[in-house]
Amino acid sequence: MAGSPSRPRAPIEPFRIKVVEAIPDPSLEVRVAALERAGYNLFNLQSEEVRIDLLTDSGTSAMSDRQWAGLMLGDESYAGSRNFAHFESTVRRLTGFPHVLPTHQGRAAENLLFSTLCSPGTLVPNNMHFDTTQAHVRHAGAVPVNLAIAEAYDTRSEHPFKGNVDLERLAALLESEPPGKVPLVMVTLTNNTGGGQPVSLENLQGVSRLAAAHSIPVYYDMCRWAENAYFIRAREPGHSTQGIAEIGRAMFGLAEGATMSAKKDGLVNTGGFVATRDPKVAERLKEALILYEGFPTYGGLARRDLEAIAIGLEEATELAYLEHRIGQVRYLAELLSRAGVPILLPPGGHGVYLDARRFLPHLQPSELPGQALVVELYREGGIRTVEVGEIMFAGTVGTPKGVEPLELVRLAIPRRVYTSRQLEFVADTVIQVFLRAASVRGVRMVARPERLPHFTARFAPLPPVTAPAR
Ligand SMILES: *Cc1c(COP(=O)(O)O)cnc(C)c1O
Repeated sequence: MAGSPSRPRAPIEPFRIKVVEAIPDPSLEVRVAALERAGYNLFNLQSEEVRIDLLTDSGTSAMSDRQWAGLMLGDESYAGSRNFAHFESTVRRLTGFPHVLPTHQGRAAENLLFSTLCSPGTLVPNNMHFDTTQAHVRHAGAVPVNLAIAEAYDTRSEHPFKGNVDLERLAALLESEPPGKVPLVMVTLTNNTGGGQPVSLENLQGVSRLAAAHSIPVYYDMCRWAENAYFIRAREPGHSTQGIAEIGRAMFGLAEGATMSAKKDGLVNTGGFVATRDPKVAERLKEALILYEGFPTYGGLARRDLEAIAIGLEEATELAYLEHRIGQVRYLAELLSRAGVPILLPPGGHGVYLDARRFLPHLQPSELPGQALVVELYREGGIRTVEVGEIMFAGTVGTPKGVEPLELVRLAIPRRVYTSRQLEFVADTVIQVFLRAASVRGVRMVARPERLPHFTARFAPLPPVTAPAR
């Protein structure tokens, strides 16, 4: 039966389920108590207190039968494991980068890259830095500068590539800074902070041209590169008949190297890598790798994990997989849009992002509407989400003048984990909160750690709204 135009249809699953895991259904009483105990920070919840966990798509994927079988092929040799050889050849084939160093997760790769390339006072441009990326740039003494196009900040703009770098602003920055001041240009694929939005191949070419004119290397934060390639295939003229791996090679051909969290498009529960074409940089990265992570043929991982990454990276390029994955995100977005819920448009690759400012217009920025909404979604339906806004990104450099920074709530969809019926439950929960949005109270931060505050901050609810609307 064809779907009626009034009802969006869920994408059909390109897999069947072989193992199941029961999920909890905490009562309202349990949820209210859990919020208080957690200091209204959902990172402090126990997983048994969560019904649908949309905190992150990082390391939360379901592995395939082939990946689980790969774990049994673990060759746990300290040096020269055959799993490393499989992992290395897979990354080389997909990216073209010859030097591949495994790490225990993405931020370890960031630490190695930025501590190797950046010195205090240098600048690192990016479309938008993700939380750990920004923190690691700062940890290396450098300044992260966000240069996404203006449309990235307009949640209603349907620009097809809202992850694009503003090439004019990048050119101006590179022109105005002395040689050596910008040690590398980063591009995040897709732009997680800006809603999982893709970067076009044309834009990557522009970035590469500008950087090359100043002899500056380009590195990608390639966590969601396959999702980015999917959008290029779907939206950028001339790519609709290409495979994901082919588009990927075109993307990576424009860069010097990349950092990767395999917890995203590697479809595993932990792992990552840093890769480069530059043999001198590779040598320095390797020294740091041995110091912090482990020998270069395991990098802080069990060798069996490298096997699972090698298989997962391939599976992430399968079109049937990506169509379902990105189809699920689109499906949830459609259910919400049709109910009038303000979301960031167009929906991105790995989650639906609610526009907290438009969702809770009665709250002032100081009342932290993003976090207030996170708290309310959990209270209403046991759904765990995360704020991507004022708390996560206070003090960010490079937001265009006259533009309000984004205040979002991310509903990250884990890969191959939840059914469409569960996403419908999520939509119903969000809509319930939306219908009584005017009653939602703000929150204030009562403990603010200096670095990566969103992980460990504590909050308290503000008194109920009594003042007239602004
Ligand atoms: C997850 C993520 C990272 C960090 O990776 P971890 O594996 O969590 O350390 C870096 N950049 C982006 C865009 C990410 O989404």
